[in-house]
Amino acid sequence: MPVSQNHTMSRSQFHFYRTFVPALHGLKDPVVLSFDDASFAKARAADPAEIPHHFIHSGNFFSPPYSKKPELRTKERVLSLQEKLMNDRTDGLMTLNVPVGSDFKVPYWKHAKADRLRALETSLEAALWAGEHAQRPELLYAGFEVGTFHDALHIFARAFNADFMQLSAGFGVFSRIAKFRSEDRIKQFEVLAGYNQLLGEFGGARFHASGGSSLNVLELLAFANVTSADGSTAVIAGLAYGSVLTASGRLVKADKITEWTCDCEFCSRKDMADTVRNLKRSSEARVRHNVHITRLSEARINDALANNTIAELTEERLAEYGRKDLWRCYALVRKKRTRS
Ligand SMILES: [Zn+2]
Repeated sequence: MPVSQNHTMSRSQFHFYRTFVPALHGLKDPVVLSFDDASFAKARAADPAEIPHHFIHSGNFFSPPYSKKPELRTKERVLSLQEKLMNDRTDGLMTLNVPVGSDFKVPYWKHAKADRLRALETSLEAALWAGEHAQRPELLYAGFEVGTFHDALHIFARAFNADFMQLSAGFGVFSRIAKFRSEDRIKQFEVLAGYNQLLGEFGGARFHASGGSSLNVLELLAFANVTSADGSTAVIAGLAYGSVLTASGRLVKADKITEWTCDCEFCSRKDMADTVRNLKRSSEARVRHNVHITRLSEARINDALANNTIAELTEERLAEYGRKDLWRCYALVRKKRTRS
């Protein structure tokens, strides 16, 4: 099945939105845009070959200009710029997610409870405001930066009780710091366990996980009743790190490849005389291969969701990934999971 065509956005499926890169013209798989991607707002956004189905997030507060000028990231500015980008292929808009403090070297779970709750309440206020002012409120996902199980229970219940049934959380911010990498992953799934605990009471909810979604956690996310996710690994690894994804979810430097067997749509193209050479010299080739591998995972996940075998698929893939911390994440969610 060609994975780059005819994306129908069913609500019962798991959707992955990759980072948008102009060089990947012609790939029609879903992408994530930032509210301030103004360069697309003109001719591009109207053309499905340029901008396919997409999710518009509320910007990276941890990178410039917002790390220096947080005042550029207000609930009003986020929504108004998102609405300039919005078209009939927009699947979701993430409302303003407020970080805990401005020092992104200290993970959320290490901040004082009062500070964490203040940030979450500000995010909830932004979501409620957007609910009243948005042209298409049905697209909104209430965005949060949440770092503990109990904070998740608290704020997600508050959102559900305010009739906000589409939630979103940012993940992976502290995985950029080596000493927190593993704990950051665990915290991500503690938060998702909190979400799952509430699902028995509040059915029909949807959840978008922003960041923290490398290939080897996609099954875990779907198992955790996450309905969509965005991530940059497939694109960034190919572009910046010269790496290609293997079928078992590992990243390998293209330089180091001697033999290569891949039956992804890109590598098995008829005009692909020398795939290895191509992957070594072309960042675009690496990214296209990586995107196809990610889409194959997504398709397999959606088969499993349709057949109610997502737990089996997750265990099978985790065995292949061979990562202890990911098994811990699985155990955390399985304990609280109330909806299959
Ligand atoms: Zn390939």
